[in-house]
Amino acid sequence: MASFDLTGRVAVVTGGNGGIGLGMARGLAEAGARIVVAARNPEKSRRAVEELEKLGTKARFCAVDVADEASVDGLVRSTLDAYGRLDVLVNNAGINIRKPPQDYSLAEWRQVIDTNLTSAFLCSKAVYPTMKAAGGGKIINIGSMMSIFGASFAPAYAASKGGLVQFTKACATAWARDHIQVNAVLPGWIDTELTQNARREVAGLHERILARTPDGRWGIEEDMAGVAVFLASPASDFVTGTAIPVDGGYAVQG
Ligand code: NDP
Repeated sequence: MASFDLTGRVAVVTGGNGGIGLGMARGLAEAGARIVVAARNPEKSRRAVEELEKLGTKARFCAVDVADEASVDGLVRSTLDAYGRLDVLVNNAGINIRKPPQDYSLAEWRQVIDTNLTSAFLCSKAVYPTMKAAGGGKIINIGSMMSIFGASFAPAYAASKGGLVQFTKACATAWARDHIQVNAVLPGWIDTELTQNARREVAGLHERILARTPDGRWGIEEDMAGVAVFLASPASDFVTGTAIPVDGGYAVQG
């Protein structure tokens, strides 16, 4: 379907070197987009770029700390220098520090909020002038089931992911007339480095997720590709401000 075609478009995926970010980047690349992998780890990112290029598109790595404004501004500049346009931003980079609220230090709180939420503000603000001047664009924010539910071991993470959904709505309404659609994706429990650590650190988590997910399995990176292509393409031009769960039914299980 032509409305899902991303040929000629340029997509920046923060944290695009692994896990959900790479799963989405693969989908965008297969739909024809050129990809900028924006992350910190150069070796992991180099491997991701190689893999994406094998899908028949162009890809490049840009070293970025998404919590740092100057670094984010550099990401936009280097993308425009390399490709001359920037059509899609996926705010995917994220971390978690797992402990109950009373054990959190202020520095830990700030690290999680800055990486997961302030980063989306910085990146979205930085791409806005380019998207507005081009007559439109697509921003995809990666929330979580913890945008909806709480978890005793993830206070800053849950606050950041809840905030991301509200930030999505604010940008969607602010930028709709600029033809920039801003949406969130709420992944269920997906098997990545992040959740492999969670499974090690939180007793019984693996079994609880399996029991609670109607589909009866953990998600995989490939599960994230289709929604990324939809939200990055003209197929979603009248979809904005929403938060789409991709969760095997986790959020609707009573
Ligand atoms: P990973 O740990 O595999 O990926 C996280 C990515 O973020 C890495 O690519 C990492 O790259 C990047 N990153 C972290 N900090 C920074 C930073 N300061 N600057 C730039 N890049 C950074 O985890 P997932 O793929 O699981 O998570 C991706 C997103 O999906 C996160 O926002 C997470 O909260 C969310 N999510 C994940 C779920 C899951 O079940 N896996 C469920 C719901 C949401 P590098 O280290 O090279 O910088």
